Amino acid sequence: MKENIYFDCAATLPPCQQALDTFVKMSKDYFANASANHALGFEASDKLEKARAQIARYLSVKPEEVIFTSGASEGNNLVIRGVSEHDRSWAKQIITTKAEHPSVSVVFDTMEKEGFDVVRLDYDKEGKLNLAELEKALQAKKTSLVSVMAVNNEVGYIFPIKEVYDLCHKYGAVLHVDATQAIGKEPIDPNSYDLLTFSGHKIAGLKGSGALIKKSNVNLDPQIVGGSQEFHLRAGTTPLGLDCSLATALRITLETYPERRKNAVALNQLLRKGLKEIDEVVITSPETATPFILNFALTKHKGSVIAEALSNEGIYVSTKSACNAREKGYSSVLANAGYPIDIASNAIRLSFSGQETLAEGETFLSVLKNLLATIKERS
Ligand code: PMP
Repeated sequence: MKENIYFDCAATLPPCQQALDTFVKMSKDYFANASANHALGFEASDKLEKARAQIARYLSVKPEEVIFTSGASEGNNLVIRGVSEHDRSWAKQIITTKAEHPSVSVVFDTMEKEGFDVVRLDYDKEGKLNLAELEKALQAKKTSLVSVMAVNNEVGYIFPIKEVYDLCHKYGAVLHVDATQAIGKEPIDPNSYDLLTFSGHKIAGLKGSGALIKKSNVNLDPQIVGGSQEFHLRAGTTPLGLDCSLATALRITLETYPERRKNAVALNQLLRKGLKEIDEVVITSPETATPFILNFALTKHKGSVIAEALSNEGIYVSTKSACNAREKGYSSVLANAGYPIDIASNAIRLSFSGQETLAEGETFLSVLKNLLATIKERS
């Protein structure tokens, strides 16, 4: 019998019923344009501001610091371009890490082509970020922006955001934190960032929803202009259903967090123990990684072949970040940590919501062992 085990929660989650219900109700009952100057428009904008205030409360920020977006990719583009362009007259340098998602790293590449000096910080196999390198870079040149992810999407490293924030503020830079894989997985200190981005669909909300938290001390140039929505930072008719559904998804992910975390820790431990017993497995997520992500590499088989064979058995995993999983090649996150290309090319990522069962973990291990025994080794 084919299994149905979904260990790809870092790629996306199915929307929870409550977020779907909010989306449908708000889209139908408050369909008017939230910027319209009539009673129906006022009702819609009232709902929008309620959703904004809820999100602000859940994240311990001010309502006017919540800017709705379509997700983390848009938020990351807006922040990196927006701050760099706003501060272009005095800033010479912007800083990031070598572990970022492409929606951050590719924007840095673009800004580099546009004349900024870009520093990309190193980290090691334990996910330890090189803070000395950060301080040296901050001292050397005028830096407007530092962008560091809170939790890495492939390996689950947890970067020391508060320490990075303190260093940034010592040298007059602002810190952007891509929290796409952190919200609902790891606690976030509201006093450890200036800008924070995330997506709704990673927390069982809807695809196309997301938010940027922009503290009042930060200025940035909008990237989508032509309307006054979202404090002039994101023009376009308000998608009220999506924005309200984000507030619901965030509430539920935070309410269920203690239970989900307990489950994820137990499942992670069970899988680590089982994987350690397999000769050809190298566990690449350090013990300090978030329990919701477990990355390992195969030394004798092709990671992509095993992932496909697992999929044929009804077990769904990733080889690397879903956004570029279909492109050939190795995981730059693992290679930059110091793993050889042979390991970085054959990694498998398991990621959890915390609602999986230990029985699913046992099944995964036994199916994996069978596949490794029956599928031809890579030559
Ligand atoms: N940042 C990180 C760390 C991610 O994991 C992802 C999604 N894989 C994104 C940004 C982009 O999110 P989205 O595709 O929802 O815009």
